[in-house]
Order: sequence, then structure tokens, then C-alpha cells
Amino acid sequence: MHHFEYQKGILSAENVPLPQIAQAAGTPTYIYSRATLIRHFRAFDAPLLGIPHLVCCSVKACDSLAVLNLLVGQGAGFDIVSGGELFRCLAAGADPKKIVYSGVGKTPAEIQAALEQDILMFNVESEQELKKINEIAGTLGKKARISFRINPEVDPRTHPYISTGLRENKFGIEISRSRDLYQKSRRLPNLEVVGVDCHIGSQLTSTAPLVEALTKLVELIAHLRALDFTIRYLDLGGGLGITYHRETPPLPDEYARELLAVAQDLDCTFIFEPGRVIVGNAAVLLTRVLYTKETDTKNFIIVDAGMNDCIRPSFYGAYHQIWPVAQIPVERDYVADVVGPICESADYLAKDRPMPRVKPGDLLALMSAGAYCMSMASNYNARPRPAEVMVSGSRFEVIRRRETFEDLIRAETIPRFGS
Ligand SMILES: *Cc1c(COP(=O)(O)O)cnc(C)c1O
Repeated sequence: MHHFEYQKGILSAENVPLPQIAQAAGTPTYIYSRATLIRHFRAFDAPLLGIPHLVCCSVKACDSLAVLNLLVGQGAGFDIVSGGELFRCLAAGADPKKIVYSGVGKTPAEIQAALEQDILMFNVESEQELKKINEIAGTLGKKARISFRINPEVDPRTHPYISTGLRENKFGIEISRSRDLYQKSRRLPNLEVVGVDCHIGSQLTSTAPLVEALTKLVELIAHLRALDFTIRYLDLGGGLGITYHRETPPLPDEYARELLAVAQDLDCTFIFEPGRVIVGNAAVLLTRVLYTKETDTKNFIIVDAGMNDCIRPSFYGAYHQIWPVAQIPVERDYVADVVGPICESADYLAKDRPMPRVKPGDLLALMSAGAYCMSMASNYNARPRPAEVMVSGSRFEVIRRRETFEDLIRAETIPRFGS
């Protein structure tokens, strides 16, 4: 459920008609609905209120300062995967005690920064990383809280690029080897082992793989406790899917119910790392039609947003609905590719899509553009990244100004030894 609806034939974000935002902020622009963000966070959090838990929203899905700050206000913690994300969280007012740090390639500088902030825990993905964290904690005179990210070897049945819990993935530690690593960690004095973690993939449309993973982790916890480890946290990662097209993902309360059936009396604080399910349907990308053109085989709608602004269709073959801002009926006989201005054939937002007969100047909204869209935007083709706007009721504010050409070259210099 989101708050992007037609009001008197014009697509609106909450109570703001999108043409008003196009006029004030230009296009392409990402538009977030505050009420939708809050609604989704609460829908996830509320069914868990009966058990000790922490919702650590995945920063990589959407790292906008304004969005992070809004989530802080809802009581959220964060799952980070880089020092830059830690910096963003702190700038947004996050409590470091609610931050968990995942990722296979944490650098020494990143580990140090996270230790200095006293984050809740590191989700460790290899033996070498374990030793590095121990070493850096030692030089800082600190004890690092750690979990191991376990690869439970379950098939999340999602797109291969976003599945992480298969045996061949680079993520996590094989469950069969993990017991050995827990034992080894005992000999490292600057570590405190506090938990077990996994994250098996993204855009999951069934709870079965998550329940399967949880079942394996519960077994592992029992085993570790028998060996006298104090396991206080069970981190189940993120991964819950959303409706982009016709998917019917489980609702958060159904997910919570199924998990609790497996792990009700575990005596752990549950950590969740939802990304997409919180932010995915809470934003649209507003874009303007530049041209239309017909070839012998295809119709093209050329818009001012490209794969540098939203790479999901090109990268994953992802489907995003495209709604005309001024409601016009879709004509059954008109099928078009909606493409951007980038010089790549992979630059498209939609392929072979039944579309209304739009003309230059018309506005379109790429739906479900809150997750892995702006956070993946680049400057390819020397295109300034889009503006971002937050809507609340009938008000809206620019939360990130559109980049300028000056921004494009801000970090660059021409060497003095000449050309
Ligand atoms: C990407 C990621 C998430 C969030 O995944 P969603 O599918 O957006 O919920 C959570 N945890 C880790 C470790 C991740 O890499």
C-alpha cells in the first residue's frame, strides 16, 4: 500500500499533484511519500512488538539523509555495508548502538571507524576479517561485538544477482565451517561473540526459504549454547519482496507469525535488516517525455531519465510500472520501449510495454522507485544525478538538490605536469 494515487485524473503523491513538483524541482526527480515510509516501517515493526527485536533498515536500499532521519524518528536502527553508510547514518542522527555492519570487504579504516562509534555488532564474513577486527579492537583497547554471517545454503528462489545464500555465493561462512570458526574466535581476546546472522537474498516472494534458514540457525544456536557461547542476537537479514508487477509477497505480519512459530522461545533479540519492503514502494521517479519515435519494428518513448538514474531494469531486467501523470487510457495496440538518453542499448526503463499514446512534454512516473534506484544512481554520460523530494500531506520539500555541472568536476584536477 502506498500513497501515490490519481486525484481528479492527476497522479499525486499524498495530496501533492506531481506536475507541481515537476515545476518546482524539474525532472527527473525522485519523490518520496513520508506517510508511506512511516506506514511501511510500522507494518514491519508492529507484528514484532511481542518479542525483543530491533529493525535495522538496510541503508544500501535507500541512503537519503532525510529518509534515514525519518526512520530514526520511528525508532529504527541500520544495517550498513560501508564506512560511507556509517557516516550517512551518523549525519542522519542514528544511534550507533542500533547499527550492525555487514559486508565481505570491510577495510581497516572502516572497521576502526565503526569501533570508535561503538556500533552494536559486526557481521563477520571470513576468518581473516575476524582476525583483522580483533587486531584493530586491540589497538583501540576495545572489545568488538561480533556475529558470524552464516550461509545457510538455502535457495531463495529469486534473481541470481540478488541471491546471497547459495553455496556458490561470496557471502557469509558455510554453516558446516562456522562451528570451527566460533571455536577459533574464543582465542581472540578483543572479541565478544554475541550472535548469529544470515541474509539469503532479496525480493523474496515466499517465506519458505526464510523459515528454512531460520530453522538452521536455531539449530546452530542450540549447538553453540551447548558449547557455552552466549548468543544474544539472531539477525535474520532482509529480503522480503514487494509488488512491482504481479508478485504477491508475504505481508510482514505473516512473515512475523511464521518466524515466531519456529523461534518463539529462543531467548534472543531478533534483528531484521529490511530494505526494499520499507522504502521500495515509497517513492516514484518522475520523468518527462522528450520524444517519441517509430521504427519498422518498434515504438520508442524517449524520456529524460536513464539507466544512470535508475539502473534496475538494465541491471536485473527488473519490471517497474510506468504510470502517466495525466490519466490517459492505455491503448491495446500501442506497445513501446521506454528508453533514456544514455548511449547504451541496455538503457531502458521498460521493454515492449503497452503504453498510453504520450507526446513530448508529458510526465510519466516510474513506480516502486524507492529501493536500489537513487542509491545506485551514477554520473554516467556526465549526467548530474536527479533531485529528491519528500512529500508530507499537501507539503513538499527538496531533500537533495539536483546536481550541477560543477558538481560533476568538483573532485577532479588536471595534473600540473601538463597535457
Ligand atoms: C541488501 C541487504 C539487506 C536488505 O535487503 P532487502 O532485500 O532490501 O530487504 C539486508 N542485509 C544485508 C546484509 C544486505 O546486503
